[in-house]
Amino acid sequence: MARFPEMFIQQVLQATDIVELVGQYVALKHKGREFVGLCPFHEDKNPSMYVSPGKQIYKCFACGAGGNAAQFLMGYEKLSFPEAIRRLAERVNIPLPKDYAPETVADGMSKNDLAAVTEFAGGYFQRQLREPAGRDALGYAHSRGLSDETIERFGVGYACDSWEAFLSAGRRKGFSEEQMVAAGLVRRREGKSGCYDYFRQRLMFPIRDVTGRVVAFGGRALAADERAKYLNSPEGALFDKSSLLYGLAEARESIVQRRQAVVVEGYLDVILPHQTGVTNVVATLGTALTEGHVRLLGRYAPEVVLVFDADQAGAAAAQRALELFLAQRMHVRVATIPAGKDPCDFSLAEGGEAFQALIDQAPDALQYVWDRQFAACLSAGGNLAERNRLMEEFLTLVVASGAYGAIDEIRRQSLAQHIAHLLNAPAAEVQQQMRRLGRKIRPDRSARPAADGRAAIGVTTNPERVVLEVLLDEPELFDQAAERIDPADFQDAMLQRLAERIWPLGTDGRLALEELLADEEMVGYAPTLTELSLAGQRRGNHHRTLQEAVDRILHRKETHSVQELKTGPLDDESLRELHARFQRSDPRKRPKIQ
Ligand SMILES: [Zn+2]
Repeated sequence: MARFPEMFIQQVLQATDIVELVGQYVALKHKGREFVGLCPFHEDKNPSMYVSPGKQIYKCFACGAGGNAAQFLMGYEKLSFPEAIRRLAERVNIPLPKDYAPETVADGMSKNDLAAVTEFAGGYFQRQLREPAGRDALGYAHSRGLSDETIERFGVGYACDSWEAFLSAGRRKGFSEEQMVAAGLVRRREGKSGCYDYFRQRLMFPIRDVTGRVVAFGGRALAADERAKYLNSPEGALFDKSSLLYGLAEARESIVQRRQAVVVEGYLDVILPHQTGVTNVVATLGTALTEGHVRLLGRYAPEVVLVFDADQAGAAAAQRALELFLAQRMHVRVATIPAGKDPCDFSLAEGGEAFQALIDQAPDALQYVWDRQFAACLSAGGNLAERNRLMEEFLTLVVASGAYGAIDEIRRQSLAQHIAHLLNAPAAEVQQQMRRLGRKIRPDRSARPAADGRAAIGVTTNPERVVLEVLLDEPELFDQAAERIDPADFQDAMLQRLAERIWPLGTDGRLALEELLADEEMVGYAPTLTELSLAGQRRGNHHRTLQEAVDRILHRKETHSVQELKTGPLDDESLRELHARFQRSDPRKRPKIQ
C-alpha cells in the first residue's frame, strides 16, 4: 500500500487539536478568536504566528509558513506527510491501518530509504576530505578561498579517485545496490553486472532540501582533463532541480531577516559570499529560475536580486527577469558583476561589502532591460530616430510579455509612469504608446467597474485569487461560482492548479479547507491555501465580493475572445525576432546611463 487511506487521514486530523499540538512546541496566547505565538520557522521577535482553532490551521504572517497539524509537524520535526500523519495517529491513539507500509518511490523503497543513503554519503565524503587521500582536494578548496569553517558549515567533501570506494562503504553500512542506485550515488554497469561510483575525484557539495536534509550532490572535477567540470546527482525521487535551491537551508534565516534573497548560479558563488558576510545567497542548480523557485523564495522574502555576470547575462536571462518583475510575484532587481568575474571571484577579490554594494545598487528588472537596450543602441551609433525605434521595441517587449497580459489597469498605469521616468519621456505619451501596442498585441483585459457604486474588491486585486479566498472561507458559495466559471477560466498557473482541486470537491459537496490540507498532493500548497482562507475571512461581504470577482473574470474572457477575432495575438515569429535582436547586442559595451 502506497499511502494512508483518505478516511484515516481525516480521522486522525479530526481527533487532533492544533492549538494543543502547536502549544506543545510554542507558547501561545489568546488573541480574539485566535492564538498567537513566536513562529518556530523563522527567527521571530514579535509573535507572527496565528493559530486558528476554528479553521484548525496555523499561519505565520512574517515568513508565510502555514498549514494544518500535519504540516506543522512536517516543518518542525522535518517529517514527510505520511510520517507526520503516523506521528499524529500515535498521539491520539488511533491504530494504523493493518496493511500500512511507508510510501515507496522506487522498487519498494521510500524517500526516507533514499535519504538515508544521501545523508550517509554526505558524512562519508566529508570524512574523505580529511583523509590523506583528500589532501589535494582540500588544498584545492583552500586555493579557491574556502576557510575550514566554511568547508564545515557547507559540509564540503571529497569523492576519491576510485570506481567503488563509496560503493563498498555503502555496502558495509548495509545499503543495497538498488538503494544506492536510486539515491543517485552509484550506477549500474552497462550490459554487465555490478555497479560503480557516480562521483569520482571530485570536490563534493551536498545539496539540502529546505529542512536541511542532504538529498543530492554537486561535484567539481579535480582532474584537469575531466570533461564535465561540474556534475550533479541525477534527478530522481529526492532531487528535483526545479524546486530546490542550493544553499537555502543555510541562507533561509538570513533571507527572512533581510527580506531579500540573492540568486546566483554556482556552488562557490553561494559559499564565498556567505564566507564574506553576505549570507542571503542561494543558487539555481543548472536551470533558470523557475516558478517553483520563485514560489519557494516568496515564502521567505518579498524581494529577489538576480546576479548575472556581465559575460553571461544573455537576452533570455533578461527576459526572464522582466517576466518575473511584471508578474509582480516578487520585487525583482538585477545586479551585474563586472566583466570577467563571477560572484565567487568578486567576493574574494573585493570583499563582502563590495558585493553587498552591488546588490544594494542593483536596478529593478525593468530598468535593467532598458539600460541594456539603450546601451546596445548607443554602441551601434544610435541617433534620435534610433531612440524612438528603441523605445517602441522596449515597450513591445514589456507589453508582449505574458506577465503584462495578466496585470490590471492600475498596475499598468504605474508601470507606464515608471517607464516614462526611465525613458525620460512624458508619461501620457508612454501610456498612449503602450495602449496602442497593447491593442496590436493582445486584448485590453482591464476590469470593468462594478455597475452599482463602490467596488467590493480593488481593481488591483487579482479576481481569480479573490474567488479562491471566498470559496476557501465560505465553501457554501461554491455553486454561485461554479455556475459561471470553471478552472479553465483561471490564467494564473498556480491558482488554476488550486481551482482544479477545488472544483471536484465542490461538485461533490465536500469542499473544505481541512479536506484540501489533508491531501498529500497539496502539501506544497499549504502556505498558500491557509493564506487565501484567512484573507477570505478578513474580506467579509462574501456574496458580493464573489460576484464581482466572477464578473471580472468573465469580462476579461469576453474581451479576450472578441479581440482575438479582430487581430490575433502577436505571432511567435516577431517575438523571436525581438529576442534575436536582443541577443546580438553586446552587454559588455554598456556605458553607464545618466
Ligand atoms: Zn514564520
